[in-house]
Amino acid sequence: MPVKIESMADLDAAAQVLAGDKTAQVLGGGTILMPRVNAGDVALRRLLRISDPVLRKMTVGGPEITIGAGVSMADILAQQGLAFLHPAAVCVGGPAIRNMATLGGNLFAKAPYGDLAVLLLALGTEVSLAGGRTGPGAARRDPIEVLFRQSTDARAPLVRAVHLARPKAGQVQFHKMARTNPRGPAVVTLAVSLEVSAGRIAKARIALGGIETRPCLAVGVARTLEGAALSEAAITRACAEVLRELTPRSDALASGWYRGEMAQLHLRRILQQMM
Ligand SMILES: Cc1cc2nc3c(=O)[nH]c(=O)nc-3n(C[C@H](O)[C@H](O)[C@H](O)COP(=O)(O)OP(=O)(O)OC[C@H]3O[C@@H](n4cnc5c(N)ncnc54)[C@H](O)[C@@H]3O)c2cc1C
Repeated sequence: MPVKIESMADLDAAAQVLAGDKTAQVLGGGTILMPRVNAGDVALRRLLRISDPVLRKMTVGGPEITIGAGVSMADILAQQGLAFLHPAAVCVGGPAIRNMATLGGNLFAKAPYGDLAVLLLALGTEVSLAGGRTGPGAARRDPIEVLFRQSTDARAPLVRAVHLARPKAGQVQFHKMARTNPRGPAVVTLAVSLEVSAGRIAKARIALGGIETRPCLAVGVARTLEGAALSEAAITRACAEVLRELTPRSDALASGWYRGEMAQLHLRRILQQMM
């Protein structure tokens, strides 16, 4: 079955094509899609390569940051203003992969991939979508977790950009645990964001990768930390909550049991570093 690759200059026009043709998919850097094409995946028939400059645009100077979905890991790593994203971006494959791999593609990567998506989830990122919205709703943004809650079979929306507030110094920590360090596929990926006020945790967001097929938030674990000072007792309470809330998946890299142990261990390490 031939695969048709089309170039499109306009993002919203591409969104309309995607809405009208269930066989069409957007092509980012192609590091996930092209190996599928080469393996003869018959589900891939029409790929849209979008050259709209809006996808490559970054606004990083102010308190609110916008990053286009077509920005690559290498572009992120070249931006000192995005240093808080570097621990995740540098984990994505080797240099050749990072030159091609886009932020948009990372949002739709299934476990064991999606490292940057986990960090963006902990940071409370919002996404703006292309097409279908004009008038007052045009600037609407959705929390990033809306993407991850969708079934993996559901048709993905076309992401225009992500938007996030610049975190304060020390607010966020990211750890990736892989069998081959530093850049193998993740056994578990963790990102923790803690907003502290008057010595107490006002807001916590804990995101995990590898546990489910898509990045997930441990809302119950975060709740055990909120309102408390970050102490050894609070950390033990939070770690004990991990397996009450989550049921880690098993695959060829690790059993669910091992993933659960590693998630607790790395959460403890991150929180101790943040004390
Ligand atoms: C050798 C190797 C090592 C890797 N290592 C890692 C790793 O360590 N960590 C990691 O996280 N990933 C890793 N990956 C996976 C992959 O490179 C990254 O996840 C990358 O960010 C995917 O982006 P892409 O642009 O290449 O995606 P593509 O292959 O272009 O697309 C992937 C999916 O995202 C969709 N998509 C792309 N852009 C958009 C958009 N704007 N809106 C909606 N949907 C969109 C596509 O339609 C497709 O379904 C690795 C891949 C390889 C081949």
